[in-house]
Amino acid sequence: MESVNLQSSLQTDVQTQAEMTQSSGRHDRNQDIGLGRGVYVSTYGCQMNVNDTERMYSLLEMANFTPVKTPEEAELIIINACSIREKPVHKVYSEVGRYRKLREKNPGLKIGVGGCVGQQEKENLIKNQPLIDFVFGTDNIDSLPNLVSQVFTDKAKVIQTKFEHRAPYHVETLVRNPGVSTFVNIAKGCDNFCTFCIVPYTRGREKSRPMSHVLMDVRNLVNRGVKEVSLLGQNVNSYHSEDGADFADLLKKVATDTGVERIRYTTSHPKDFNEKLMHVMADHQDKICEYVHLPFQSGNTEILKRMNRGYSREEYIAKINQMKKIIPNLVLSTDIIVGFPGETEEAFQDTMSLVEEIGFETIYAFMYSPRPFTKAAQFTDQIEEKVKNERLNRLFDHQDKIAFEIVKRYQDQTLNVLVESINEQGKAQGRSTQNKLVYFMGTADLIGKTVPVRITQPFPSVLRGELQQ
Ligand code: SF4
Repeated sequence: MESVNLQSSLQTDVQTQAEMTQSSGRHDRNQDIGLGRGVYVSTYGCQMNVNDTERMYSLLEMANFTPVKTPEEAELIIINACSIREKPVHKVYSEVGRYRKLREKNPGLKIGVGGCVGQQEKENLIKNQPLIDFVFGTDNIDSLPNLVSQVFTDKAKVIQTKFEHRAPYHVETLVRNPGVSTFVNIAKGCDNFCTFCIVPYTRGREKSRPMSHVLMDVRNLVNRGVKEVSLLGQNVNSYHSEDGADFADLLKKVATDTGVERIRYTTSHPKDFNEKLMHVMADHQDKICEYVHLPFQSGNTEILKRMNRGYSREEYIAKINQMKKIIPNLVLSTDIIVGFPGETEEAFQDTMSLVEEIGFETIYAFMYSPRPFTKAAQFTDQIEEKVKNERLNRLFDHQDKIAFEIVKRYQDQTLNVLVESINEQGKAQGRSTQNKLVYFMGTADLIGKTVPVRITQPFPSVLRGELQQ
């Protein structure tokens, strides 16, 4: 299959001399590599990337780097960049270009690029932008202290983008200040090869963490004051622990065996979302939020086939109807791609009608853009940018009207809101179990507590309310 061949060529990794020296493991993770130098990580992309940045900071802090708030304060700058949408490589080059003056002021400043862009572009980044000192891939984050040490001591350019295919996915969650709510990775990579998606190439083959490790992480986070965890994976529904547990088993255990107050998860795949999971959600609604993000991508079965999504429009609708029956008060959001190659106006209308039929509270819609290595990038029936743009605007207008009607149901309802922060004016911010952002006036002692808030002004993106005593 074309995609598999492409993938293997991609994963024929660059193993530079520098990388080979590095992989001999000259440095321990806790050695004083950083000497207190400031490190700044610039992040763009999905939640997985944000989580990876937190891991980078944690690892570098252990190696005595000091996280700083601006690039101007840093002696080490890392750009952790997503490559799913837009023009990610271009963005990286222009960001690095902005650091030229900082390098002139401080010739010792080191600049690295990681994340999906590092994985995808490898040595090209250094070839095209000599200000970049090192590049690392999505599977090499735990080697970052060693890699950075090499950059500082050997003053060599380093590229490390090797996928650890055989290594099990055994990592503990590293979060410096977890706060009220935090993310816990349960799986990484993806084997689905949707024809538009670069993730299988930039994140590698799907791997799951053992259930016992996830449970231990959640318990530790609860001991540090965390009230809510979001379990994270590219496709959580195909999670499989070494001991045979599936995602429904894991979710149930997190609900019953960790002491955490609230659980969310993302992202789900319609073809893998099973009835067992629906029942676990229904049976543990005291802990598991009734919110599901279930990307449908297109409402047209022919387009779904070309996307290699593994379900038809009818199957998606049937699954949602089953979920609505089993999970009380289910709230839904979705991802949609507009202007996929071959999408006719009629096919687009299928997307518009599906949005209406299901009644999503939120949609995340994007114009299709060809990604390197993916099958759909080779399709010859690409859609003109102006057509994609016009369809996307129509879709947003359509959804605005739908969401405006749907959220009216929150008027005067009292929702349980987990308070995350409060500003100086006393405006508290939290999330309801429906994943709605809720604002109300409160006091600082409410942070970390779940409180009843009566909704007085529901809007599609936020709800405003009053604290109930
Ligand atoms: S399931 Fe999601 S992550 Fe995997 S290939 Fe498809 S869109 Fe990408």
